[in-house]
Amino acid sequence: MSNRTLNLDESLYEYLLSASLREPPVLKRLREQTAKAAMANMQIAPEQGQFMQLLIKLMGAKRTIEIGVFTGYSSLCTALALPDDGEIVCCDISEKWTSIAADFWLKAGVSHKVKLYLAPAQETLENLLAAGEYESFDFAFIDADKSSYWRYYELCLQLLRPGGVIAVDNVLWDGKVIDESANDADTLAIRQFNLQLKADTRVDISLLPIADGLTLARKK
Ligand code: SAM
Ligand code: CA
Repeated sequence: MSNRTLNLDESLYEYLLSASLREPPVLKRLREQTAKAAMANMQIAPEQGQFMQLLIKLMGAKRTIEIGVFTGYSSLCTALALPDDGEIVCCDISEKWTSIAADFWLKAGVSHKVKLYLAPAQETLENLLAAGEYESFDFAFIDADKSSYWRYYELCLQLLRPGGVIAVDNVLWDGKVIDESANDADTLAIRQFNLQLKADTRVDISLLPIADGLTLARKK
């Protein structure tokens, strides 16, 4: 028995997956295809995708935002968890990667729930606010360029209804958050983001040690 978060070794992680992962074939195929791509490790872990699906269902979320689509694994998890009249606004700048995502949204029969904006995410979020979408979303997932995390967070906070949740990925950054010799821009941005979020009384928070670290922030 342990009263602190366990360090998962390879075999305990394999057990976790075998005991709980219910990945549908379409998500498995996308994960296998992504594994062959350069930068495949940008994709979220499958157990994280399943957790986000559960969260979306628990919240009864209907309108969501995804910042950082890549080949589409997390967006497909979200789209599959949303009701048939749900919507996911997807932000990315890569036509090449999101074309794989679009292919899988189609294969999974969820394309009608997805709105893809190929533009810098800040611009898309600001346009949504300008179009009167203030407090009209339930859930947001931030997983794009780390140096913009705080800006995305502030914009998502405006776009989310009270009670809405922002999930922020990679907050443990492969352990570099505590490596004093790591002073690259991404690491500094994540450290600063974590520090500021802890002090932000506008939200309730929890940092989950799932995959590369996922913080949930619930707008009060
Ligand atoms: N959530 C994805 C998944 O689970 O497969 C992984 C996202 S990947 C870590 C980051 C993505 O952010 C890349 O696809 C990249 O093109 C995108 N990106 C980088 N800078 C961006 C920006 N300024 N605006 C929107 N997307 C951006
Ligand atoms: Ca990520």
